[in-house]
Amino acid sequence: MKRLLRYKQKIEKFILDTLFPITCLGCQKQSDQWICEHCLKKISLKKDQICPICEKIITPKGEICFSCHKKNSIDGLLVCTSYKEKIISRAVGYFKYRFVKRLSIPLSKIMLEASRNFDLRLPDIIIPIPLHPHRLRWRGFNQSQLLAQYLGKNLTPGFDIPILENNLIRKYYTSPQMKIKNYKERQRNIQNAFTVLQKENIKNKNILLVDDIATTGSTLFECAKILKQSGAKKVFGIVIARQKV
Ligand SMILES: [Zn+2]
Ligand SMILES: [Zn+2]
Repeated sequence: MKRLLRYKQKIEKFILDTLFPITCLGCQKQSDQWICEHCLKKISLKKDQICPICEKIITPKGEICFSCHKKNSIDGLLVCTSYKEKIISRAVGYFKYRFVKRLSIPLSKIMLEASRNFDLRLPDIIIPIPLHPHRLRWRGFNQSQLLAQYLGKNLTPGFDIPILENNLIRKYYTSPQMKIKNYKERQRNIQNAFTVLQKENIKNKNILLVDDIATTGSTLFECAKILKQSGAKKVFGIVIARQKV
């Protein structure tokens, strides 16, 4: 019954979008894009990057600091912009919870620009954070996969960086991290939720893990741990923004 209701909502949304043209989420003016070129240019990207674990030490590209590296697997996390930018929080909300798939383009552009600004090291492969099949069915698309695909095509001109899908997978369904406020509980919720199916595909590879938003970072850190345990050489993450809980 719940699912039927959701389908109904999706169909209604589609009809509304077709009948009424889009207005930009920033300036509210009519546009053919959800974030118009003008508003996209106005979004300020991060000027500095910090260690993703302690969030105190400034590092050139968001690399993990020396003392946090001892206990964590991730090599760094590039945070592109701030969740405090109103247009970003709105866009992410529309993208994930109102199923506006087309928002992947402007959001990917933000990620691409930040990667260039910070001269992000080109990975061998890109892996989007996987969704559990239930969640995928509910949303209809994996938001991280769309972002990853754009980055794969555009990070380096004339050469596509391969996207590795269906190798890092979610073993079981976990409550959405958004609903859990406590850091320890988030960690517990996500622990051992992922697995790597074919280790040979990631062995000695430099991996870029793509997610939309990080909060505590538990999901990214857990994926980095599994990937490293499975033989990955480096695991760097990239997210649009970090949302404080
Ligand atoms: Zn606008
Ligand atoms: Zn640190």
